[in-house]
Amino acid sequence: MKDKSKLILVTGAGGFIGGSLVAALRAQRRTSIRAVDIKALGTWYQEFGDVENLSLDLNLLENCKTAVKWAYEIYNLAANMGGMGFIEHNRALCMLSVLINTHMLQAALKEDVKRFFYSSSACVYNADKQKTFEAPSLKEEDAYPAMAEDGYGWEKLFSERMCRHFREDYALRTRVARFHNVYGPWGTWFGGREKAPAAICRKVIEAKLSGKHEIEIWGSGVQTRSFMYIDDCVKGIDLIMNSEIVEPINLGSSEAVTINQLVDLAEEFAGIKLKRKYNLNAPKGVNGRNSDNALIQKYLDWEPDTSLRSGLEKTYRWIYDQYLARERGDSRIVRE
Ligand code: NAD
Repeated sequence: MKDKSKLILVTGAGGFIGGSLVAALRAQRRTSIRAVDIKALGTWYQEFGDVENLSLDLNLLENCKTAVKWAYEIYNLAANMGGMGFIEHNRALCMLSVLINTHMLQAALKEDVKRFFYSSSACVYNADKQKTFEAPSLKEEDAYPAMAEDGYGWEKLFSERMCRHFREDYALRTRVARFHNVYGPWGTWFGGREKAPAAICRKVIEAKLSGKHEIEIWGSGVQTRSFMYIDDCVKGIDLIMNSEIVEPINLGSSEAVTINQLVDLAEEFAGIKLKRKYNLNAPKGVNGRNSDNALIQKYLDWEPDTSLRSGLEKTYRWIYDQYLARERGDSRIVRE
C-alpha cells in the first residue's frame, strides 16, 4: 500500500520540465514518486524504472482521480505547450489545457493533498507592456489589466486564477510560478514545439554539419528575452512549493539578451559564423520581455542565476549529441 504521507505526483513527466523534476526528486532521495503523462510509456524524454510511471490523458476527470490517488504533493506540469510557432498556430489546443488543470484541482480536493503546484507562464503578461525592444522587466502586477498572449496565455491566466480561488474557497494550498523561457538538456529540440534556444542550437548544428553556413532567424533578431536554465527552474519549483508564497510569482532569469546574441553564442560554441536571414513573417511573439525578480529575491533571497553562456553551452553540446544519435537512428542516449 502507498504511504499517504510521502507520495509525490508529477504530471507532464514525459516532457522536459516534468522529467527533469522527477530526476531532481530522485536525487533528493524522495522515493515515492508517481509520474504521469499522456504520452505512451517508452516515448518519454526521461523515464525512470524506480518511479511509478502512468500513461493517462489528464483532460479526463476520472484519469485525474487515478493520478492523484494517495498523493500528498502535486506538481501539475502537463499542458499543450511549445514555442511561438506552436502556440500561435494552436490556440484552441493550448486553451484546452484548462481541462487538465480544472480536473486536477477537482481531483486534488477529493484526495485532500497537502500542496498543489501549477506551472504558469510569462505569456500571462499584458501585451501592451511588452511593445518595446528594451526588454521591459515584468512585475507580477503587470498581468493586469489582462491582455495575455492569445490562447496559451489566457489559459494560463485563467488557470492560475482558478488555483487562487480553490485556495481561498476550499483551502487547497496552491502555489503558482510564472516560468520565463526554460531551456536545457532534455528539452524539445525539433519537431515544431521547440523554443528559441533549442531551435537556434539545432539550426547552427545543422549548418555546421552540412557546411551550408546560413541560418534563418524568426523576426528581426533584436527581440529581447531572458532564458532560464533547467536546473534553476527545478530548484525554483522546489523553493516556491515549500514557501508560503501564495500569489503567482515570476520564476525566470533576469539576464536579457537579443535573439541575435543568442545566435552569437551558439555560433561561438560551434566555431563558425553564419549568414543570417531574417524571416519577418515568422511567428515572433512580443518585442521585449524580461523577468523582474524583486519579489522572488524578497521572499527567497534567491533568483535563477545560471549564466546564459554556461547553460546554453551545455544545451548546445547535448543537442549536438542528440542530433548525431538521431542521424544514426538512435534518438535515446541515456535511460535509467
Ligand atoms: P513539455 O511539452 O515538454 O511537457 C508537457 C507535457 O505535458 C508533455 O510531455 C505532454 O505530453 C504532457 N501532456 C499534454 N497534455 C496532456 C494530457 N492531456 N494528459 C497528460 N499529459 C499531458 O513542456 P515543458 O516545457 O516541460 O512545460 C511544462 C509546463 O511548464 C507546462 O505547463 C508549460 O506550459 C509550462 N511552461 C513552460 C515553459 C518553457 O519555457 N518550457 C515556459 C512557461 C511555462
